[in-house]
Amino acid sequence: MEKKKLINDRISSIAPSVTLGVTSRANAMKADGKKVYSFAAGEPDFDTPDHIKSAAVKALAEGKTKYAPVIGMPALRLAIAEKLVRENGVSYEAGQVVVSDGAKHSLFNVFAAICRDGDEVIIPAPYWLSYPEMVNIAGGKPVVVQGKEGDGFKISPSDLKSAITEKTKAVVINSPSNPTGIVYSAEELEALANVAVEHGLYIVSDEIYEKIIYEGIQHVSIGSFSREIFDHTITVNGFSKAYSMTGWRLGYCAGPAEIIKAVGALQSHSTSGANTFAQYGALAALTGSQDCVVRMVEAFTERRAYLYDRLMAIDGITCVKPMGAFYMLPNVSSFGLGSVVFAERLLESCGVAVVPGAPFGVDGHVRLSYACGMDTIKDGMDKFEGFVKSL
Ligand code: PMP
Ligand code: GLU
Repeated sequence: MEKKKLINDRISSIAPSVTLGVTSRANAMKADGKKVYSFAAGEPDFDTPDHIKSAAVKALAEGKTKYAPVIGMPALRLAIAEKLVRENGVSYEAGQVVVSDGAKHSLFNVFAAICRDGDEVIIPAPYWLSYPEMVNIAGGKPVVVQGKEGDGFKISPSDLKSAITEKTKAVVINSPSNPTGIVYSAEELEALANVAVEHGLYIVSDEIYEKIIYEGIQHVSIGSFSREIFDHTITVNGFSKAYSMTGWRLGYCAGPAEIIKAVGALQSHSTSGANTFAQYGALAALTGSQDCVVRMVEAFTERRAYLYDRLMAIDGITCVKPMGAFYMLPNVSSFGLGSVVFAERLLESCGVAVVPGAPFGVDGHVRLSYACGMDTIKDGMDKFEGFVKSL
């Protein structure tokens, strides 16, 4: 008898996450005693601030070790709702917030909740590489709208409009963006939101990098422009980036009641909710002093200035100046290698780990994360420069 196909087609077609893949390869090389300069991980190098760790340790010591409510601890959901009103001008109630195991999980839940088979989700490129795969897994169809380097990688309302079909269900907006670091202005965001509303689309707004923003620019939440836009928006955020809590696995989404209900039901059969004592840490992150965020952003600001100058000083490289997040996406196409080969040879020959642009929808570029320390950036850039000069 012929063997049954082992793996579900929807899953077997998924490419594993390249960001996590390059990061683990760099870590394995380090463990083998090799000198590696890793610009790979989108993961702040700082420890989680002490007051956040203490709150989780206290919760653990007090026996907060049982299941929390599926959609998150009420006190945390309330703190998130209050934060969203206070800082973002979006007035969600606590009942419109679901806490999940990282913003990645929140996004996964949202796409699973909104995509019927064949529904199209518009994703501006360059995009964070997990969006298309999440949409595929949910049975939807990712539709990529290419942002051009000459336009600062931003898409226009008419670019968005021309990608909309009968089947379009949602558009993803990620500002500040991974992998480009670009930040849309309030006017640009509102214009995109108006197109989405006119066509009855959901706007999935991934705001995980909202706090990491430079040169005095203010982050604006897309749901804050009007009641109508708010009603179409699902706001996603988390704790990994702003509070250096990547390993805690906590994120959240907030949105219209029907979505929240669906996400809650889905979560009740998958994870049963996020880790209980970790949620006490997240509560401390939101309600405690924000000085830690300011200090981390100061460090990123210094690294950004240094890295940008180093890249700009290399003949043949162009780079859109990032205004947020902690990534740069230089164009290295003039060296004649595709991004995958460029990244492989760079890692093999000089121990410098970068992520190829191809899986972000932009070949010819590579992504450098400057969430690593200044010494890594300085020494790694010496190697990077030597490598491109040898090509
Ligand atoms: N959105 C974007 C744009 C990201 O870069 C990441 C990567 N960490 C996430 C969401 C998910 O973050 P986490 O799951 O760690 O909260
Ligand atoms: N988001 C980070 C990155 O892009 C962490 C890895 C991941 O989840 O993709 O590097």
